[in-house]
Formats: sequence, C-alpha cells, structure tokens
Amino acid sequence: MKRLFIAAVGVLALTLTAAASATKPGPGSSTGTGQVFLPNPVAALGNQSLTDQKDADYPALAGAYAMVTLTNLDGSGFLHGDWANIRSETGTPAYSATNTFVYRRDDDRFEQVMAYYWITEAQKYIQSLGFGSTLPPVNRESQDIRINQWGLDNSFSWDKHDVLRFGKGGVDDAEDAEVILHEYGHAIQDAQQSPLGFGFSVEAGSIGEGFADYWAVTVSNVLAPTADTPCVADWDSVSYTSETPHCLRRVDTNLMYPSDLDGRVHHDGQIWSRALWDIRQALGNVVADRIVLAAQFDIPNPTMPELAQRTVQTAQSLYNAGIANTVRAKFQSRGILP
Ligand SMILES: [Zn+2]
Repeated sequence: MKRLFIAAVGVLALTLTAAASATKPGPGSSTGTGQVFLPNPVAALGNQSLTDQKDADYPALAGAYAMVTLTNLDGSGFLHGDWANIRSETGTPAYSATNTFVYRRDDDRFEQVMAYYWITEAQKYIQSLGFGSTLPPVNRESQDIRINQWGLDNSFSWDKHDVLRFGKGGVDDAEDAEVILHEYGHAIQDAQQSPLGFGFSVEAGSIGEGFADYWAVTVSNVLAPTADTPCVADWDSVSYTSETPHCLRRVDTNLMYPSDLDGRVHHDGQIWSRALWDIRQALGNVVADRIVLAAQFDIPNPTMPELAQRTVQTAQSLYNAGIANTVRAKFQSRGILP
C-alpha cells in the first residue's frame, strides 16, 4: 500500500515540477550559492544549550549559518542536479533564477538546501575515492529526496527508485547534516546490492545502522570538522536526550560482539560503527572509506563476522597484508573476528 501511494505521489510531483520548470526561467548554470549548517549548530558552535524552540530562527544560532557553493545543479533554478533531486515537499520548492538559495531554518526551503548540498558533497566524496573510475560506482545517480512528508524520522529504499525522506518532529531532520548523511548511508548500502536492498536480519540491520552512523561521522568530519567527531547528530538529538554532550549515538563506545547484542539495531550497530571508526583512526579516512565501501558490494544480508572477513579481504586486495592486519585487529578488538 505504502509503495503504491508513494509511487502515485511521485508521478504527481514530477508532473508538477515539469510544469513549473517550463514556466520559470532557469539560470542555466550548474553552480550556485546556498546557506547551510556545517554540520549542525551544536557541533559548529560547541554549544550544548541550544534547543529547537519550535523551528525558530533565534539569535544564538546566527553563527551556525555558512554560505557554500552548490554544484552539479541542472540549471532549471530548482534544487535538481546530478547527485541530488529535491523532488516534492509539503512547502514551497526552493527556486531561484540565479541559483541563490539563502534561507534560514524557520523556512522549510532551508532543509531542501541542506539535503541538496550534503548529499551532493557526499557523492563527490565517494567519487574522489575512486568509485566510478578505478572502482565500481556507488549510488552514482541523482538521489531523490523528499522533505517534511509525514513528520517521521525515516528513510526508505525499496527499489531502484529509492527515496530519502526527512521529517519534522523535534529539530527538523534535515537541519542536521549527520541525519542526512546517515540516511544517505542506507541508500549507499542498498544500492551496492543487486538486486537493491541491504539488511533483512536483525544483525544485518544493525550493520546498516552502524555503517550509516559511521558514514555520517566520516563525511561530516571531512567537510566540516568539529571537536567531538564521534558524536552522531548533535543537533537532531537535543530533542531526545538531556544528557550532554547531546548525541543520537556515538561511534566510540566499548560495546562488544556478541555479548552486548540486544536486538535493537541502532544500539547493536554501535559495535560495528566502533570497529569502522577504529579503522579510520588507524588508516585515515581515505584508505578506511575506500576499504569499507568496496567491501560492501553484493553481500546483502551478512552477519558481522561475515562482513568483517570480507572487509579484511578487501583491504588485502586493494592495499597489502599490513593494512589487512590492521583492519583485522580492529574487528578483533570488538570481538567480531577471532
Ligand atoms: Zn538508520
């Protein structure tokens, strides 16, 4: 039911967008300017006292806004491009005849710009690692994104027309780059399987959450480094936790496999994300992320030991025995490999 409904909405949205494109002049150029958070106000300002305040744009947030260059736009004046496609919204679709997309958080178009920017940059990062040139492509397509559809904090990828969806509820999901990147992480893993789809068992689902958390942290740290890197979604989490630092989850916990598995995928995923984080700490983001992504092709429903073993083999084939041994040691530290 859900699929049919969403498909119908998709056709309507595409039709409306096409009509709008036909009547509004586009700038015709592929670059533009956008205003975003890098990656979110709590991390950027190092201020744990910031709260949602019902989507208000209040003075303490002023320093969190940053101007960035938007690339790979299709020239229509909408946020449609090579790697991201803001395809339907409950509010007004962002449009600019000069590709200038400067909004603040109380305007729903701000989240559209956030999603366009961060997903485009994430795909450019993937390609910078060699995926699509020396290595096979990873989700190298215009990722469809919907914002504010149902007020849920969720992501769906059910066929080759996978869509990322960002809701409201507390801080709007797409106001935190690490939430955007987490959901894109799921799209990446789904796209790496043929046929599309990753993570049907609880343990594979936990790997999915762990990878998505790791992906949020590694890309956020490359593009907008902040002090507490292992903290995931410092801003989105202000509505969920009174503990400080506010983190939806962390990638540097001491959870162990299999003794700490409890069947909650976001919790159990922290075992996996810690292993990936340790590999990154040892090898740097470029080597680590090449290995982690390359290991995930066509292994749709693995256990943690199965994907860990594949990751060690990938390190061996992309690099050498020394790097493979480092990768193995990090999985051993979590109890994932003997
Ligand atoms: Zn998730």
